[in-house]
Amino acid sequence: YGVAPEANAEVLRWLDARESFGHFIGGAFVPGADGESFAVENPATGEVLAHCAQGTEADVDAAVQAARRAFPAWSGLPGHARARYLYALARLLQKRERFFSVLETMDNGKPIRESRDIDIPLVVRHFYHHAGWAELVESEFPGKGPVGVCGQIVPWNFPLLMLAWKVAPALAAGNTVVLKPAEFTPLTALAFAGLCQEAGLPDGVVNIVTGDGETGALIVRHPDVDKIAFTGSTEVGRMIREASAGSGKKLSLELGGKSPFIVFDDADLDSAVEGVVDAIWFNQGQVCCAGSRLLVQESVAARFVEKLKARAEKLRVGDPLDKSTDIGAIVADVQLQRINALVDEGRGDGVDCWQSSAPLPNNGSYFPPTLFTGVSPASKLAQEEIFGPVLVVMTFRTPDEATMLANNSRYGLAASVWSENINVAMDLAAGLKAGVVWVNCTNMFDAAAGFGGYRESGFGREGGREGLHEYLAGKPAKPARKPLFP
Ligand code: NAD
Repeated sequence: YGVAPEANAEVLRWLDARESFGHFIGGAFVPGADGESFAVENPATGEVLAHCAQGTEADVDAAVQAARRAFPAWSGLPGHARARYLYALARLLQKRERFFSVLETMDNGKPIRESRDIDIPLVVRHFYHHAGWAELVESEFPGKGPVGVCGQIVPWNFPLLMLAWKVAPALAAGNTVVLKPAEFTPLTALAFAGLCQEAGLPDGVVNIVTGDGETGALIVRHPDVDKIAFTGSTEVGRMIREASAGSGKKLSLELGGKSPFIVFDDADLDSAVEGVVDAIWFNQGQVCCAGSRLLVQESVAARFVEKLKARAEKLRVGDPLDKSTDIGAIVADVQLQRINALVDEGRGDGVDCWQSSAPLPNNGSYFPPTLFTGVSPASKLAQEEIFGPVLVVMTFRTPDEATMLANNSRYGLAASVWSENINVAMDLAAGLKAGVVWVNCTNMFDAAAGFGGYRESGFGREGGREGLHEYLAGKPAKPARKPLFP
């Protein structure tokens, strides 16, 4: 049961030791300015795990000031010196992989197999990768320097991984940060703050302020923030774009998607079925690049859908801490209600809705693997991001029709193409409006590869060389004159 009983016990001890969490500002945990807090729940049980401070204007201002104070010394360090801190963080994260996996699963509801084998190892990889970049940044980007104080706002679907995607490149390039985790899932970010202390990271280089969208908006509006990096919904992304327009702040947005998963009749159908499972049922479908629209060639559609249903029927929905669970809990009740509403509305369209008969736990927020067939490409089901374990199936006859259907979306984050004929796959890939196209695979991530969208999926890239551009500006940092940090 679980990853390791010791890790579960350690997480419970860590939670029990704190009645409530404050913000992490200037290298110390401090209570919120007005004492307001919010409860953080385990979505698998409904149990309250912790109380976290609701960030106010005064808290955000204190965090931005701490980041500003730390900036000259941190940016003035030679890259190899910053690299040492990033390596230290990477090693500490690696050492605590089990602790972070259990905490992430309890906070978010994702299956422990995923946090243990995917989220946290990728977090570690991201810090190692960017430690390397810290050493190279001066020689690889001559004439460039850090942007300054970065406000970073992250969502709840990959809480620590999204933090890593933002914090690691920012620090490598010499920036200081104020990060706000999502209100549903702030706990791994707070545990990470503890690692910053352990690694001896200079005070104020990383600041973490907890709170809801209002706290996020305060970061966006703060006049002394030089850059905003946001991952979250397209709606909030639009608000941030408007709020920061004309402010001179650098901006990158990673937003939603409705990514196509395209299966040709010559594909290895069994592999493609496994691909679909990964594309839409990974993390309960709460993935920005989830392959949520299945486009399958008409001649194999009926056979493929039958195979897929048989496979989905075997997915185990239940306790996220159980290693045999495939589908865990939906992050919060309000998200569950949103999925339910979209699915109910979709049913009304007269389309066929199939759901796995896997038993759902009695408590907590759960939703079964769901598959809609006979969906019209213009319908809400086919156009709107559901952000749940819900797949819509459409069919095509020719590659041109597949391209047209795939691009019939306001989003453009990812796509996946399955065919044993590499010419067909590569030809199609070139015509797809998506930031990333996977061929005969899906959800492949690496810290060295840039990730990001087109259209309403946002702009800017995270990861690799391209991702560093987001954290660099036109002028090199001023080297520090005296020893900076003891
Ligand atoms: P959300 O937009 O509601 O919230 C994201 C973050 O923004 C949270 O920390 C939230 O507190 C904050 N926020 C809310 N309102 C704000 C405001 N007015 N100003 C500033 N900050 C504000 O999104 P969510 O529901 O937490 O996450 C799900 C969405 O994120 C999905 O649409 C998904 O596609 C997207 N997502 C995209 C990527 C990507 O890389 N493109 C990755 C993960 C998630």
